[in-house]
Amino acid sequence: MSEKEIAPKLEKLSAVKGMNDILPPESARWEYLEDKVRTLMSLYGYRNIRTPIVEPTALFVRGTGETTDIVEKEMYSFEDKLNGEALTLRPENTPGVVRAAIEHNLTYDGGKRLYYMGPMFRHERPQRGRYRQFYQLGAEALGFAGPEVDAELMLLVHQLFQSLGLRNVRVELNSLGVPSERQAHRAALLAYFSEHLDQLDAESQRRLQSNPLRILDTKNPALQSLVQGAPQLLQYLGDESLRHFDTVKTLLSGCGVQWSVNPRLVRGLDYYSHTVFEFVTAELGAQGTLCGGGRYDGLFRLLGGKPTPGVGWGMGLERVLELLKEQGQTPAAPVPDVYAVIPDAAALALAMQTIQALRAAGVAVQMHAGSGEGASSMKSQFKRADASGARYALVFGADELAQNAVTVKALRDGTATQRRESLADVAAWAATLQSGT
Ligand code: ATP
Ligand code: MG
Repeated sequence: MSEKEIAPKLEKLSAVKGMNDILPPESARWEYLEDKVRTLMSLYGYRNIRTPIVEPTALFVRGTGETTDIVEKEMYSFEDKLNGEALTLRPENTPGVVRAAIEHNLTYDGGKRLYYMGPMFRHERPQRGRYRQFYQLGAEALGFAGPEVDAELMLLVHQLFQSLGLRNVRVELNSLGVPSERQAHRAALLAYFSEHLDQLDAESQRRLQSNPLRILDTKNPALQSLVQGAPQLLQYLGDESLRHFDTVKTLLSGCGVQWSVNPRLVRGLDYYSHTVFEFVTAELGAQGTLCGGGRYDGLFRLLGGKPTPGVGWGMGLERVLELLKEQGQTPAAPVPDVYAVIPDAAALALAMQTIQALRAAGVAVQMHAGSGEGASSMKSQFKRADASGARYALVFGADELAQNAVTVKALRDGTATQRRESLADVAAWAATLQSGT
């Protein structure tokens, strides 16, 4: 029998369309961003929450909304093979966070500030900045009714973008008021669009009955002038809603955040109220919304909880990283402090003990690992040492070890200087390796 018959070559498998592998060195950029996020969240007192990726489908039908793109056409839903439950891979995480808050009575002793980072799933047409598995960072403030938290949440985003060095990101705001105000506006919208029925596209005609507010965020260029002329929700807001909105604007300005009002910024769902906002860039084409959020005071009730105010945002991390790249903000890739060159397998035991002591002292050590066929040549080990980016090579040669020492060779400063260090002094030179002296 030929070898082919014994072991037929199997077909290669690929990742699912629109779902990406994030590989080194790219993954280091993700870690850089995630580190910034964690630091910032602790500065603002937001705590991490981790909810399941799979939730009951009903959570999103209710909590995201039946008339949204997400629920209408983007969800990965399936039936649990064992018990028939209707399940969905989370397309967003606000409903999950609110479900968890209700389930565990998180706001029993006052408001809670929470954040999450993780994968979301939407069946969309993959393109730059739009994927089927993508990562969202989100922050949610639960149990706070006042406008200062709306402002705080936006300041957080603003500071994150600043600390990343991002430029040219616009902040757009709008207010949706309260349900009764929206109702009056909805009636006016219905009348306006009904008058211009012939100008609406098929999707907008369908939405006219189900959710006319959604027509306002149509992406169809042919509808733009019609939409421009539509009645604005802002004109239907009462004093209290206007006051809430004014306070948000004043607080933002006071803290040096520039904003503009976009009357067409809407979330066509009844559980939203007051502030809605987006952080937008013109530098990422059609996928320019980096972050979107708003106040959702009606959501707790809709999900079976006690009435509790809530406000939050979600941010697409791929888009943030894309903009960082676009603007040339590339964080330095992490490199080891030290590359351990081990020319002779007989030195392995002592070398590894020393390396462990260095790592315990906080020195990043990359150890040469061979092919399993005896030690690699010094030349090839030094080549690897160079490629690793390490500042120093440690050479665990037979000569050195005979004297209970190791050679430290500078790789990056152009001097190629070498010095010997005694193994007994590992802790002392660990400190010098880290400080780079
Ligand atoms: P879009 O209008 O771009 O579809 P959206 O209104 O569906 O956005 P949200 O549900 O508000 O987006 O999600 C918050 C953020 O998550 C968006 O502003 C964007 O940065 C990011 N995002 C949404 N969908 C995707 C996706 N498919 N791929 C990558 N990022 C996404
Ligand atoms: Mg979308």
